[in-house]
Amino acid sequence: MSGIVPERKVRHILGISGGKDSAALAVYMRDRVPDIEYFFCDTGEELTETYDFIDRLEARLGIKVQRLAATQGFKHFLEKYNDFLPSPQSRWCTVQMKIKPLEEFIGDDEAISYVAIRADEDRSGYVATKDTIKVVFPFKDAGITKPDVERILEESGIGMPKYYSWRSRSGCYFCFFQRKIEWVRLAENHPGLFEKAKSFEKVLPDGRRYTWSQDESLDELIARKDQIIAEHEKRVKLQKQRKPNKTLAEVLEGVLDGEDQEEGCVVCHV
Ligand code: SF4
Repeated sequence: MSGIVPERKVRHILGISGGKDSAALAVYMRDRVPDIEYFFCDTGEELTETYDFIDRLEARLGIKVQRLAATQGFKHFLEKYNDFLPSPQSRWCTVQMKIKPLEEFIGDDEAISYVAIRADEDRSGYVATKDTIKVVFPFKDAGITKPDVERILEESGIGMPKYYSWRSRSGCYFCFFQRKIEWVRLAENHPGLFEKAKSFEKVLPDGRRYTWSQDESLDELIARKDQIIAEHEKRVKLQKQRKPNKTLAEVLEGVLDGEDQEEGCVVCHV
């Protein structure tokens, strides 16, 4: 026996979230690094549009996106957390249903993780918890911004995810990062999923409230949907006047981004 220990292969991984930036990064990287492993952390609570978009990406690019699932479903974890719904302050959903399956997938292997944060973003958050994972930001390094991403998707024939006509972020249908108008649109586009999201809320007789929004339950929110729609449409109109050359999807995204200060999650919304 020679005693020479074979060098361990460094893995190249790229997480697809179902959003436009990670999809564009898959297009961008496909011919730059040949043996990338693409993965999608599937919470089992995603929109059908997200699954369709990933199928489209696979078909167009001729790649395989591995679906990584958590050991248990959302309901199991909700019980474990005593009915406390996840929130921007307590993102147990991301840890249990996205980060843990990913770390399991990588194991102790050395890996380079390609993350789709753009040059025009200043986002931070989870990128890796192990020293064996090196994180790189090809879009940041190449100065690639939002219009470039849209162009990359357009030119590749993949286009934007379908949910962009009513929602600006990828992720679970019940994601607490949603704005009020996006909850209203969820109720319109996927009434069954809206009801399912409602079923996870609890308002107890002793005053304890476990709701997706801090200030109101989904029943309370939908009861004032006309007001939410009217306020949103006012902002869309204003935005259109200010930026007449933007497409409706761009206007919508601009309005939604202006409605809250949360940047979204760098694991789920890229
Ligand atoms: S998309 Fe939202 S709800 Fe789903 S795991 Fe990510 S942060 Fe949690």
